[in-house]
Amino acid sequence: MKERITPDDRERQSLIAAAFFGCCPRCDERTLFDGAIGAGGANFASKCAHCDLDYGGFNVGDGPAAFITFLMGAVIVILALTLELSFHPPFYLHALLWVPITIVMTILSLRVVKGVLMTVEYRNKARAAVSSEAKNVVCADEDA
Ligand SMILES: [Zn+2]
Repeated sequence: MKERITPDDRERQSLIAAAFFGCCPRCDERTLFDGAIGAGGANFASKCAHCDLDYGGFNVGDGPAAFITFLMGAVIVILALTLELSFHPPFYLHALLWVPITIVMTILSLRVVKGVLMTVEYRNKARAAVSSEAKNVVCADEDA
């Protein structure tokens, strides 16, 4: 028996695709980030190369960066202390090990969190308050 895919399942799949593969929230193509992990890091592309969705209109903000920095810092310190207390490796081994791991894990985590936030903003039609509609609302409120 074939299972039906509900709209909730579709949204969940899209959220996972955006988080782990950098897929566009509208067309599901892998266009959300500027290049590969090493090339563009966790920077959004300016627009979707497939469906022309303008990513610049969304404002994910600095929240994910702060959250990921604290989380990754805690995880890396715990792992480094565990390694030090268990095996007492020389200092240079810590530097060779933890610096690249921290950079890669931070970029990967940022891509996941920013992909999720972008998709949620797209679904909820959330935009930065710089559009002409927002300016009209502000002007109308000032006139009243
Ligand atoms: Zn797209």
